Amino acid sequence: MKERMNIVVVGHVDHGKSTLIGRLLADTNSLPVGKLEQIKKTCELNAKPFEYAFLLDALVDEQTQGITIDTARIFFKTKKREYIIIDAPGHIEFLKNMISGAARAEAAILLIDAHEGIAENTKRHAYMLSLLGINQIIVAVNKMDLVDFSESRFNQIKNDYSKYLNEININPVEYVPISAFHGLNLIEHSNKMSWYKGKTILELIDSFEKEKEEEENDFRMFVQGVYKFTENGDNRRIIAGTINSGTINVGDEIIFLPSQKKSIVKSIEIFGKEAPLFAIAEQAIGLTLTTQIYVKPGDLICRIDQQLPYATNRFVANIFWMGKNNLSIHKKYKLKIGTNKAGVSIEAIKSVMNASTLKKENYREEVHRNEVAQIIFRTDKPISFDLFSKIKSTGRFVIVDEYDIAGGGIIIEALEEKEELV
Ligand code: GDP
Repeated sequence: MKERMNIVVVGHVDHGKSTLIGRLLADTNSLPVGKLEQIKKTCELNAKPFEYAFLLDALVDEQTQGITIDTARIFFKTKKREYIIIDAPGHIEFLKNMISGAARAEAAILLIDAHEGIAENTKRHAYMLSLLGINQIIVAVNKMDLVDFSESRFNQIKNDYSKYLNEININPVEYVPISAFHGLNLIEHSNKMSWYKGKTILELIDSFEKEKEEEENDFRMFVQGVYKFTENGDNRRIIAGTINSGTINVGDEIIFLPSQKKSIVKSIEIFGKEAPLFAIAEQAIGLTLTTQIYVKPGDLICRIDQQLPYATNRFVANIFWMGKNNLSIHKKYKLKIGTNKAGVSIEAIKSVMNASTLKKENYREEVHRNEVAQIIFRTDKPISFDLFSKIKSTGRFVIVDEYDIAGGGIIIEALEEKEELV
């Protein structure tokens, strides 16, 4: 099987995300036979100008029929690997999906409309990528045809944007002038912009490196469900989940946190496969154990021979707030980390920053929509987690306010447990 990589295309609305994705699919021959012609024909019949965005809509519609998935998955292939493009209609959905684990982007293309220039969202998106630890980034300056392929316009955007990116510690792999609609500098170099000597979009994504980190890290898996079955008259249990990081082997001694119950892996089950002797990050598996212990969804499974995560009710996190209501130190929320849930309140809002202007204020009582804050959280029971810098998927969480995901965060420091209420 070819190596796979997940990438996300982000940008302000109308800056050309769907066009870029549609064009990449078309130009790498990754579309179903006849699809492009079919959409072009429908446009003609309806006297509408053809848009690559229609192509993408049609593909997404077909994929999602009958199945509910949060993020549509769109594939294209190069000689080197297969790419899955995570369609992120808006930054809220993207952050939600990334933090809840529904989507896992390893690299990003950030789009800017050359004609319109840098929008507030262009800055917020970059901030979110940095918050999520995605540091393989291409900045594509799109619609170069609308600015007469001007090198000085390109340089102006590049200079302005790099100033912002430097402040948030992002160093893009490259800035590329493109026209998504006309397919320029995507697959092949365009002679309309011969002043650009760098690589094309496709060359650049093929030069991205695959994240090995998750497989090589310590083993973590949140229990998703526990199912009972009978084997030779015995009642047995299978513990299901998707591996967050690391490797698990038959015979490994494991611990469930926070309960601290221990057991040994008797078998690993993977749907449709002969029971394997080991499984790795991102695989959905079931475990049977040598002993009968009572565990529940939300428990975090770790290997005893490896470093264990933190288990406490206090930690410091950087969060991005997207809620309709402000985040307030006087309210209670729900926190979800993996499949685990806990009640949470705020001990202190240490600092708040506007994600597009980067203006910072200390010690406020509320965080507004589109602001980033550093907060001390207190959960109503001890929870298990890692620092985001060690393991991404067990170091990030979402905050739920009145049933909606209203914020996402990454844990930067574990604090000593305290019992008294905030
Ligand atoms: P999205 O909202 O970011 O997905 O943007 P779309 O892909 O829907 O593009 C918005 C509009 O910009 C559409 O009408 C596209 O045809 C147009 N567009 C996209 N790329 C280019 C380009 O390179 N040049 C020009 N002139 N128009 C473009």
